Amino acid sequence: MLAAGLRFEYVTIPNLTEDLTMGNMSPTYQKTWYANSSAESKAKKSAYRLCRKHNLRDTLNKYKTGKGCCRCSERDPVCLDFHHTSRNKEVNISEVTTRGWGLGRIMSEVQKCVVICSNCHRKLHRDELEAKVGLEPTTF
Ligand SMILES: [Zn+2]
Repeated sequence: MLAAGLRFEYVTIPNLTEDLTMGNMSPTYQKTWYANSSAESKAKKSAYRLCRKHNLRDTLNKYKTGKGCCRCSERDPVCLDFHHTSRNKEVNISEVTTRGWGLGRIMSEVQKCVVICSNCHRKLHRDELEAKVGLEPTTF
């Protein structure tokens, strides 16, 4: 998490190819790697993960901004969600940046969604729930 007021700057991602292509990425291997790694290696890996997460979030935010809410004019990515339009949801898009998914896999999940602002998203789910139980849509 970046401190308030700080802007994330792109940094060069450390070359971890050697570490990531050793073939055995089992939990035992990872535990051993971590126990035997220097503080510098751990810091490089941590920086890589942080940088990757920020880059993925930035890409998703640009996608959201480009689409905007499908129901209103909201375009601020902080207010925009992904809504799965069918029952083939594999994961919450908001969680994938920390799960190590690649951009291609993330975007294939994004393709199952529409971009919608938080307010419209809540109203959409309220309307779906009310329709499911046979209530008239709520109006205020
Ligand atoms: Zn909206």
